[in-house]
Amino acid sequence: MYVSERLAAMLGHQPGELLGRNPGVLFSDRTPMAQLDAVAEVVESGQQAVVRLGLRHSTGSEVPVEASFLALPSLSSGDPWYLALYRDAADVPRAEKVLADHGDLLDALARADDPHDVFIELTDRVEDAIRGASCWIGVVNAYGEVDAVSTSSQRDDLVASTVEMIVASGRAATPSTFRVDDLSFELGMELRAHGVHALWSFPVVGRDRRSQGLLIAAHSDRDFPHPSERQMLEHLSSLVAVALEHSSVVSDPAHQILHDDLTDLPNRALITDRLEQAIARLGRDNTRLAALLVDLDRFRQLNHRRGTDMGDEVLVEIGKRLRRSVRLGDTVGRLGGDQFLVLCVAMNGEADASSMAQRIIANVAEPIELSDGTTVSATASVGVTLVDRPGQTASVIINRAESALSAALDAGRGGWALYEEGLRQRVVIRHEVEQALQIAIDSDELLLHYQPLVEISTGRMLGAEALVRWNRPGHGLLPPGAFIEIAEETGLIVALGAWVLDEACRHLRNWPRAADGRLPVVSVNLAAKQLADENLVDTVIGSLTRHGVPAECLGFEVTESMAIDKVDTAIETLRRLGALGCKLSIDDFGIGYATLDYLRRFSMADTIKLDRSFVSGLGESREDTAIVSASLALARSLGLSVVAEGVETRAQYGTLADLGCDLAQGYLLSRPVPLDEAIELWTRTHLIILD
Ligand code: C2E
Ligand code: CA
Ligand code: CA
Repeated sequence: MYVSERLAAMLGHQPGELLGRNPGVLFSDRTPMAQLDAVAEVVESGQQAVVRLGLRHSTGSEVPVEASFLALPSLSSGDPWYLALYRDAADVPRAEKVLADHGDLLDALARADDPHDVFIELTDRVEDAIRGASCWIGVVNAYGEVDAVSTSSQRDDLVASTVEMIVASGRAATPSTFRVDDLSFELGMELRAHGVHALWSFPVVGRDRRSQGLLIAAHSDRDFPHPSERQMLEHLSSLVAVALEHSSVVSDPAHQILHDDLTDLPNRALITDRLEQAIARLGRDNTRLAALLVDLDRFRQLNHRRGTDMGDEVLVEIGKRLRRSVRLGDTVGRLGGDQFLVLCVAMNGEADASSMAQRIIANVAEPIELSDGTTVSATASVGVTLVDRPGQTASVIINRAESALSAALDAGRGGWALYEEGLRQRVVIRHEVEQALQIAIDSDELLLHYQPLVEISTGRMLGAEALVRWNRPGHGLLPPGAFIEIAEETGLIVALGAWVLDEACRHLRNWPRAADGRLPVVSVNLAAKQLADENLVDTVIGSLTRHGVPAECLGFEVTESMAIDKVDTAIETLRRLGALGCKLSIDDFGIGYATLDYLRRFSMADTIKLDRSFVSGLGESREDTAIVSASLALARSLGLSVVAEGVETRAQYGTLADLGCDLAQGYLLSRPVPLDEAIELWTRTHLIILD
């Protein structure tokens, strides 16, 4: 990518002749391969390698050099840059100290430190090495304007006008010296006032051979540098070029616009562009392009649990791992959030794509060490699509990868799926709801309605069940049936549930005491994934304390049909919630199969809620009536109270009273209503009177 003029000259080449050639051509045949291999190993491990070896002169003779090699981490492309500095070994004994140990400057570059820091260090060393000199660096843009200066010893404006003067003189492209006496009156006077007698100027030449600025030594009495000083300044000016080149990758506005701030990966705009280009190149050989959409599972929860700083660390690490997972010529970009797009070229077919997807999943799954010393594990789901010919747009391809990703998520997290025509319609719709729901949770689109629970024997209201609604823009008020299932499958339910819980507690503060002094019990529904979440109890305690609500006012409903695989965690969680004083109900009772066993395990519950499918048949279906009365007997024997759900008629209510059922909930008493209406119902002495 870059060969200094001096190296070309040392090896008997024209400047530029070596550009673009394999660096291997530089080495003489007598340089042992084993030595080069050893160097490669040191460099790959991130260290600087300094060795003596022979370079090949164009005449065939060998030039002994001291060489230092270093890999500079690339911040954009994933491939490191290699920097090699060769010093004519014959010069070494005479070379200045600065030249001999600028290795740490290279290290600073390799760490991608601010180039300005490197420059300041570099100017200090020049000033140490050349008595009477002060050293300045001026960075010049394509129009010859001074963009920045570095100097440890002079005023910036003086340096800037000096650089401008040299550029205007037309002598900026070659090493030049200027006597202050020969300069314009004003600048000359100014420089003299600062003790400068002469300026030794060295061009900083970039990879494109464009002059990027000047390295200037301003000397107090000598007109010309000594040859070894000159050599040192030339070397250092090429170091400045490398530093600028390297830093421009980071600070270039074009780079910033096209790269993600956090991971420095290509952003959506750039990766889409790369995708278009890759599609356009298809068809030249028989290979295909794979687009892999990588989505971190449950990243929201991780962010929620560990804070966004830790979440950011995870994203950065995942970005690195993805880059390490792919081959030269492949591209990794971040589409946003926890989604990455990986473009792999030269894929032979599904087998290639599948091994790439599996490699990505495996690499992501390795534990991630965070800066606070803790470790987290992430998993990813991957949607893959293969493209074999030009003609499709990037957005179509990304859509297909999204469809495949949804299919992968449907099939369970941590897996991958390949796009198939038939899949498309269904999964795309799902994905859209998911994204909208994600936004809804953060943006006030959710709300709670409350449905009263009534004591059958007295008709008075004891509390209410909180039921979530989604006021989705353009879709009206959606019932939970339209989104709860998706929330559960995608894991969004944990965040949604936490919102419901907090909102219910926030509302609880507004509920007055009843006329007889009682406090209401408001219950919220818990999904299986919430129960499996080890942070649930902390979340509950957080909401209770934040809103100053006694735990006795909060109830939880868990459904009997809930996934049994995490049953131990669930039981432990419920026990802790019960210990706080919260009420626990078994929801939709009577429809699961492991009923009795389940009841035994969930013996910490206070209440069972009889599913409304049994209640609706009460009095009409003998079977339903039998189930209800058997359930009531069972519950009583376990010391549980019973709520009948879905009570719609006075007849049902009357039968429940006869059977000795404790509580009722249903349209007969009230539909789920907004908070203020629920509170109004709460203040009444009773909602119903038995005939
Ligand atoms: P669920 O827990 O069994 O809630 C009772 C459902 O029965 C509510 O439907 C309620 O409107 C309805 N209902 C009440 N009385 C009657 C009646 O007399 N007749 C009829 N036909 N229906 C009645 P909703 O609000 O649509 O909720 C449906 C389900 O969504 C809930 O069933 C619950 O499983 C779930 N859900 C609601 N809110 C949440 C929530 O915040 N978190 C979770 N995880 N699930 C929720
Ligand atoms: Ca419920
Ligand atoms: Ca229920």
